[in-house]
Amino acid sequence: MNRIDIEISEVGPRDGLQSIKSIMPLDAKKAWISAEAACGVPEIEVGSFVPPRLLPQLADTAELVAHARTIDGLVVAALVPNFKGAENAIKAGVHKVTIPLSASETHSMANVNRTHNQMIDEVKKIVALIRTLPPERRPRFEGGISTAFGCTLEGPVPEAKILALASALMEAGCDEVGLSDTTGYATPGHIARLVRAVKKEVGEDRLTGLHLHNTRGLGLANVLAALDQGITTFDASLGGLGGCPFAPGASGNIVTEDLVFMLDAMGLKTGINLEELLKVRTILAEALPDEDLFGFVPEAGLPKGYPDGYVFQRHP
Ligand code: ZN
Repeated sequence: MNRIDIEISEVGPRDGLQSIKSIMPLDAKKAWISAEAACGVPEIEVGSFVPPRLLPQLADTAELVAHARTIDGLVVAALVPNFKGAENAIKAGVHKVTIPLSASETHSMANVNRTHNQMIDEVKKIVALIRTLPPERRPRFEGGISTAFGCTLEGPVPEAKILALASALMEAGCDEVGLSDTTGYATPGHIARLVRAVKKEVGEDRLTGLHLHNTRGLGLANVLAALDQGITTFDASLGGLGGCPFAPGASGNIVTEDLVFMLDAMGLKTGINLEELLKVRTILAEALPDEDLFGFVPEAGLPKGYPDGYVFQRHP
């Protein structure tokens, strides 16, 4: 495989689909995952192991894991809300498991009905389960701190709380922590400060990824701030699928196509063929006719002469 500078993890099949009313048929999801992997996307979060009555949109996650695992070289990731979900994810054969831990305890109670201590106990149980597996079958385990940049219920979340949770996740046995701007509150300065603080707390190589939303239009500005702090993995969703119910016109996650374009233009290799990636939107448009798709590059088209002859300039 070619050298990759920045890893993009496509989270549309999970974060995008869980945020919309339409249910995408299983075959379309499979086609989407295969098509993105064929463009060079190295990691795809294919779903979440939650009870189907809570998220019917993601009821077929185990089947998607089975499908995605047949794709050579693709890292198959899934979200799990608790131990039970992790058990199912591991049974299905995921390569990476992420458990979201909401920095806002109010949000955590509202979302998963668990306090921080109860969530850390779940994390410990999952770590114990993973350690019963032979080393080659152990998934990577990330503790994703959600609402890390602010919460719609609690408002600002103190930095000290994030640092304490990051340490607790690492002590409980996670391989790494991630930071999620679940609410789209993050700004570039906040990104820089929090990433620096968390890296200092848990170690430079234990925070490598961010999960950003573009709710207030700062998604790519936040990526730029994060690149400056040495972040190397970004979640994004094709077409910014998901949207924001409170902000019409705002995409959900940062748009994969726009992110690839910016990184390309900076001379940072993602391993993704952007021209091919833009074609994958057709699968979404056809399978989800009632949903909005976002993205500036897909609307405006690639600049003339792209990529040959196009001026690539690394960010200073
Ligand atoms: Zn999200």
